[in-house]
Amino acid sequence: MLDIAIIGGLVLDGTGDTSCQNDIGIKDGKIVEIAKGLSTDANSVIDATHKIVAPGFIDVHSHSDLVPFTSGPIRESKIRQGVTTELIGQCGLGSAPYTETMLDWRNYLTPILGNGPQTWNWPNFSSFLSDLEKAKKPNNYAALIGHGAVRAQVLGLKDVLPSEKDLTRMSMIVDEAMSQGSLGISYGLAYLPGMFAPKQELVTLSSVVAAHNGIMMIHIRSHSRQVREGMAEAIAVAKDSGVKLQISHMRSYANQKYGITGQELIEMVEQARLDGVDVTFDEHPYRAGSTLLSQILPPWAKEGGGPEIIRRLKDPQLRTRLKEELKDNGPDYLGWDNFVGMVGWSNIMISSMFNQQNKWAEGQTAAQLVKKTGQNPIEFVHEIIDQIAELLIRDDCRCSMVMHNLFAEDDIVALIKHPLCQIGSDGIPTGKPHPRLYGTYPKFLGEYVRDKKLMTWEQGIKKITGDPARRLNLANKGFVKTDYCADLVVFEPEKINAPEDYNKPSEFPIGLNYTLVNGQIVVANGEILSSEAGKVILAKR
Ligand SMILES: [Zn+2]
Ligand SMILES: [Zn+2]
Repeated sequence: MLDIAIIGGLVLDGTGDTSCQNDIGIKDGKIVEIAKGLSTDANSVIDATHKIVAPGFIDVHSHSDLVPFTSGPIRESKIRQGVTTELIGQCGLGSAPYTETMLDWRNYLTPILGNGPQTWNWPNFSSFLSDLEKAKKPNNYAALIGHGAVRAQVLGLKDVLPSEKDLTRMSMIVDEAMSQGSLGISYGLAYLPGMFAPKQELVTLSSVVAAHNGIMMIHIRSHSRQVREGMAEAIAVAKDSGVKLQISHMRSYANQKYGITGQELIEMVEQARLDGVDVTFDEHPYRAGSTLLSQILPPWAKEGGGPEIIRRLKDPQLRTRLKEELKDNGPDYLGWDNFVGMVGWSNIMISSMFNQQNKWAEGQTAAQLVKKTGQNPIEFVHEIIDQIAELLIRDDCRCSMVMHNLFAEDDIVALIKHPLCQIGSDGIPTGKPHPRLYGTYPKFLGEYVRDKKLMTWEQGIKKITGDPARRLNLANKGFVKTDYCADLVVFEPEKINAPEDYNKPSEFPIGLNYTLVNGQIVVANGEILSSEAGKVILAKR
């Protein structure tokens, strides 16, 4: 007898080939039969008539590393949108390996990853994976080693170049993580401490990853004024090291003033492929971005991490310099994405604060922080900068923001429909989050596949299932095939969508009926039936 039978649905199998109506039989966590007129002699029968049955969605860019160690609705943010597997450790912002000397690093990560368990007893990558395996989680996890954690352990958060000995130590940490199941490495070259890493460091570490047949995912050094250089560097590192490359959230910010079009980015990727580089990219379907609040600061203000940033913010002379540099387009520092210059203060919204007494600021725009009236425009901006500085100081820099109107819709369309593009949420599970945390996949399917018709349903499903499974070399995932894991989603194609409300960002998406993980029904018609079906997936070598 089957454990579960899914009857009468239109099956999109993840290959992008034509869909067909079929029944699916599940036993012991696996898909065991795919046929018409399957026996309904099963413990559970799911009627999928007029619905699509697809492989579970794969989030190739997740920051939910510590979500399994926390409580609350945020735990359901991915499973409720049909995500059955997510890839964590992104943008260089990894939580392991971790040692006690890395407290500034842990604090730096907090606005993106949340706080996680009290103690981070993760001296190596496998101790983190083993705690992650033990933690209850509704969906599967695979992980990259974050370059930031490696560099923070060896060199701290300072602007220093590695010696030969440092490079050897970093290579050993990466090599160990790769042997322990990491799928690859991520870089965050706009963040501490990745922003200080020279190209040769990236080549050296990526060569280690390439030797394990892993992947390199990269948040390039600049997404604005030096986006071309950032792209060229990522491509050159892949070429020199022989590693597979995926460019994370590959987009140029505010392209009219600061960047380049999506089409130009695509041309760079296509040229790199002609030059023999194995490169793909990912994207989320929103015009707003989100990151650490401290990212509004120029590079000189950030070096060293929290205590150093706070010391500078408290220094009256440096505060004056900050006001000078944040008043308009600002100086052209290498790699600095000047968010204020790009979108203006009224488009910067505080999304998370760590300390309870600062939570009132969540959801406020930077301009709303100013309560006084009557000042001239320059005084007004200075007052905003003072308010932001005070928030950073009071919250030990553990705050994040949403930046509205950062991306052009034309670019989203051009990039998303490209066959090399996968979808990654880049969801940040803290505070009042960017709604991409809860809605990326239903929004992609409802808005870009169904309403805007950028691609067929088959192609849309392939982009979020079969394509990432192949790219990440995930065994038995990403397709509806016999002997594959029963990670499946049943949804209503005419209904699926997600709200995009920045004031109420944690609303669950609509139109999803069932989500199965490893053969267990985890969500059924809006109700969570299990919260521990997920497993940790180790790299297949
Ligand atoms: Zn990033
Ligand atoms: Zn990210």
